[in-house]
Amino acid sequence: MPETPEYDGIVIHFGELWLKGRNRHDFISTLMRNITLAMPEKYNSKLVKLRDRLIIGVHSNEDVGICMDMLSNIFGISWFAPFRKSGTDMDSIISVANSFFNAGENVKIEPHRSDKTGQMTSKDIVSNFIKRQAELKFVPEKLGEKKLYIDVLGDFCIVHSKKRKGLGGLPVGTSGRAVVLLSGGIDSPIAAYYALKRGLEPIYVHFYAYGSIDELYGTKMPKILDSLLKYHPRAKVYAVPVHLFQISVMKEQQKYEVVLFKKFIYETAQIISEMENAKVIVTGESLGQVSSQTAENLAATSQGIRCLIFRPLLGFDKQEIITKSKELGMYDISIMPYKDACSLRSRNPVTRISPAALESIYSRAGLERIPMQSIEKAYIGFWNGKSIERSLG
Ligand code: ATP
Ligand code: MG
Repeated sequence: MPETPEYDGIVIHFGELWLKGRNRHDFISTLMRNITLAMPEKYNSKLVKLRDRLIIGVHSNEDVGICMDMLSNIFGISWFAPFRKSGTDMDSIISVANSFFNAGENVKIEPHRSDKTGQMTSKDIVSNFIKRQAELKFVPEKLGEKKLYIDVLGDFCIVHSKKRKGLGGLPVGTSGRAVVLLSGGIDSPIAAYYALKRGLEPIYVHFYAYGSIDELYGTKMPKILDSLLKYHPRAKVYAVPVHLFQISVMKEQQKYEVVLFKKFIYETAQIISEMENAKVIVTGESLGQVSSQTAENLAATSQGIRCLIFRPLLGFDKQEIITKSKELGMYDISIMPYKDACSLRSRNPVTRISPAALESIYSRAGLERIPMQSIEKAYIGFWNGKSIERSLG
């Protein structure tokens, strides 16, 4: 076995390379902010931009493990790899390369010249490896299974062999802010994941039916927030009680409860989006999945909502959502028992309500004032892993 190589750092390459001009600048500076936010503090000064890549300096193999795990959850990264630095001369490159492989391994040499001022071309580098085979532990082979990447950058090279694929997408924040309606179910955390993936910065809004915030903290909701926090560690949360809604709809027929609840949460989300300067509301709805998600009911409940409503799961089958939920390690949390915000027990919920009919029942139930009154009773602040650090509300 080779000795575990001591790496000098991790090199990070971003995706969406067609971004130009100002967009590109925002992309990179937001990505740097997000990496810094996610990294333990001691690495903060170690992140630098080097042309079209980012570099994190490390001092130990333990650092490498910690940083690699953290980077695998950050949107906007196409790949990353631990590297060693070498000089631009063949002696130096060969000595680093030898530390990466086992004796006799077949290795494809992949040189890349980011800086073309040096004398050796990429072809020269490959043919030098072949000429100096006797000095190599490994076998340079065109069809080699393993890869040796040599990135020539002016007066030094970045040498690496273990590329890891990143999550892709856009850095969280580059698409602005979104109010993400997060229930206790399977779908909305996955919708949140896809919203974050396209660069939306989340403000999580949850409507709860428990008697107190401490009771809510004892449920699966903190676990759901934690599982999303790894994709963006700074999340503002609104925990909005639903008792005012429940009292208001008590006199209405049960078949309307679901659509009334939906309209109530959209209206509340709209007020929050104005308070938070968000342009978008994100939900976990998927067309036709349940009665409230028919095209007619989606149209009626979203009538009058000025924000864009994004439904990232619109075209997903339930099974596809479940598969993704399992892949992200969220499924076991999402299926834990939970007290639903509205009874949702109506045997025959209305499947096709007109906007006018819904509007009229909504106002008959006195629901127009309820969103603002509920926000006044909400717990609002940043999620710190245990509780909402209340800032106002
Ligand atoms: P989920 O699996 O996300 O709970 P669902 O299949 O149960 O979704 P609905 O109950 O119709 O479907 O909810 C549709 C969407 O409305 C949810 O995905 C979520 O975005 C939002 N929503 C529902 N209930 C709540 C809640 N209590 N708090 C916040 N958002 C909610
Ligand atoms: Mg639900």
